[in-house]
Amino acid sequence: MSGHQHHEHSGSDLAEAARAALVAAGEQWTDLRADVFAALSTHASPASAYDIADEVSARRGKRMAPNSIYRILDVFVANNLALRVESSNAYLANSHPGCLHDCIFLVCDECGEATHIDNDAVSKTVRGLAEAADFKPERPVIEIRGLCAECR
Ligand SMILES: [Zn+2]
Ligand SMILES: [Zn+2]
Ligand SMILES: [Zn+2]
Repeated sequence: MSGHQHHEHSGSDLAEAARAALVAAGEQWTDLRADVFAALSTHASPASAYDIADEVSARRGKRMAPNSIYRILDVFVANNLALRVESSNAYLANSHPGCLHDCIFLVCDECGEATHIDNDAVSKTVRGLAEAADFKPERPVIEIRGLCAECR
């Protein structure tokens, strides 16, 4: 990526970057939100809200309703902490919570792994095409289904 300082985070550094981004957006980093983010960030492949609800329930020793997990995941997506992989109906922790991009996913049909790439030139073209068709693009979803290197 060019034109800005792009940071990819992982591990406890990622949780700290996510916390900072959420607080900067005027939202609270509650214990429950921290637990949801911790569960989400252990997944290399997109995780469903049900998977996250199960893991957070185990972590807290208390049954969490998937609905409350959905609401938190929505807050995360709205604030760039999590990415929703639409074709998998699942979520991934965003490795660049402080930096907004229209993330592009390569989703493996075999193992479900989603590789994340950023290319602002591509997303700018997609947004421009929508605007040229008199459509206001809020959130381009660019996903490519296929086979990863492991599964070919
Ligand atoms: Zn960036
Ligand atoms: Zn991205
Ligand atoms: Zn695969």
